[in-house]
Amino acid sequence: MNEKIEEILREYRKIESLSHAQRVLHWDLEVMMPEGGIDHRSESLATLEIMQRDLYLRLSEKVNSVNDSLDDIEKGIIRNLKRTIRYYSLPEDLIKRIEKVTTKSPVIWREARKKSDFSIFEPSLREIISLSKEVAEKLGYDKHPYNALMDLYEEGFTVDDADLVFSKILSETSRIMRRIEGSNFSGNHPLEKKRYSKKAMEKVNREMIRILGMPEKRFRMDVSAHPFTIGISIDDVRITTRYEGKNFKSTLFSTIHESGHAIYELQKDPSLAWTPVSRAPSLGFHESQSRFFENIVGRSRDFVHLIYPILRDNLPLESYNEEDIYYYFNNVHPSPIRVDADEITYNLHIALRYEIEKGLLDGRIDAKDLPSLWNSFMEKYLGIEPKNDAEGVLQDIHWSQGSIGYFPTYTLGNIISSIIRYSFKNLNELIREGNLVEIRDYLRQKVHRYGSIYSPKELLRLSFNEGYNPDYLIKYFEEKFF
Ligand code: MG
Repeated sequence: MNEKIEEILREYRKIESLSHAQRVLHWDLEVMMPEGGIDHRSESLATLEIMQRDLYLRLSEKVNSVNDSLDDIEKGIIRNLKRTIRYYSLPEDLIKRIEKVTTKSPVIWREARKKSDFSIFEPSLREIISLSKEVAEKLGYDKHPYNALMDLYEEGFTVDDADLVFSKILSETSRIMRRIEGSNFSGNHPLEKKRYSKKAMEKVNREMIRILGMPEKRFRMDVSAHPFTIGISIDDVRITTRYEGKNFKSTLFSTIHESGHAIYELQKDPSLAWTPVSRAPSLGFHESQSRFFENIVGRSRDFVHLIYPILRDNLPLESYNEEDIYYYFNNVHPSPIRVDADEITYNLHIALRYEIEKGLLDGRIDAKDLPSLWNSFMEKYLGIEPKNDAEGVLQDIHWSQGSIGYFPTYTLGNIISSIIRYSFKNLNELIREGNLVEIRDYLRQKVHRYGSIYSPKELLRLSFNEGYNPDYLIKYFEEKFF
């Protein structure tokens, strides 16, 4: 390995250790910590962040001096370091202002949502938009300020790319929705109202984890308010789920979804640990793995067949047979809430957020108009009107955390997962046989092992000879629902 890179990697071990500690503290905060611990914990986390920033900036000169001929991994290391250093080179004052507002905004957002009153949150949102514009200006961009923000989550993904993706999805989805209306997939299902015992459902989720092949010594599952996955290290990957007491598919699919994220974390090439290329190349790629397991595997007929005996033995399914469960898993009906959305309408929720964020960034949209604008988009895209702000513009926490440019990656996850689906030769058979080992191996070969050696666009090209092509997603919907 290049000598300068070796030296950089020795320094990087400190950064990785701090970040490792941060991840453990973060997991504990979400899963274990008594409420009272929050002040001390927040300060510790912020300090660990500053220490990492300092270490990155100290590496800057070394990183910029590497210009010898490099192999792919070395190039990836330098590319990733330069991206992080560029972000941490934002003026300290700007970073502090962002931190200040994004610490208090989620609290304000919670209150606004509880009272269903957007005007409570509006001043915070204005501040976040204005800071985001400043970040975009400082980072620099081509054509549109939103490009600078999306790039933080999905390297190289632009407004031009997104416009293509969402215009296709919008036109095709409304056509698909019209055809689904009145079919077996359409409308609510009685099982959505049905209660289950938490104990029984815990057992079902444990069985899911066994079927997916999660390794006992390197993985654990707990409960938290919002399900998430965290890769503390390649040999210590954790997910959470939650039990709402009814509509069992909700906890079932959140467990499978997070397991998909966890499989990604567990299957990276171990040699990449302790390097800047040990993470996934983008949020879209990470989400593609969770959606692949949740939707393409988990909601398939073959998977229902595989797990039906487990469901029947643990839950009061009454006379519902495999076919009924399949429709329960896949019923389509527009909902005002993104996280309750089915596979098809989900992307409309994202298209709406994309248009709004883009407009907020380039000044075509003013924050004060958001509640009514939100509702008119809901009417136009989904044909429903939210009852109030809580059910409309205030439903997501993301903006209050300063995450602008993040939402599109959810749809990119769906797109990438369908590209992967069509690159499989015999996926249905493998699912039916319960041969998850082979499915996981394939994903490791094509995606997981690379970490972020390549940018997401490069990896899509290298492994699937594709771009962010929405045609596969549409094809998948048509084959599944017609
Ligand atoms: Mg996810």
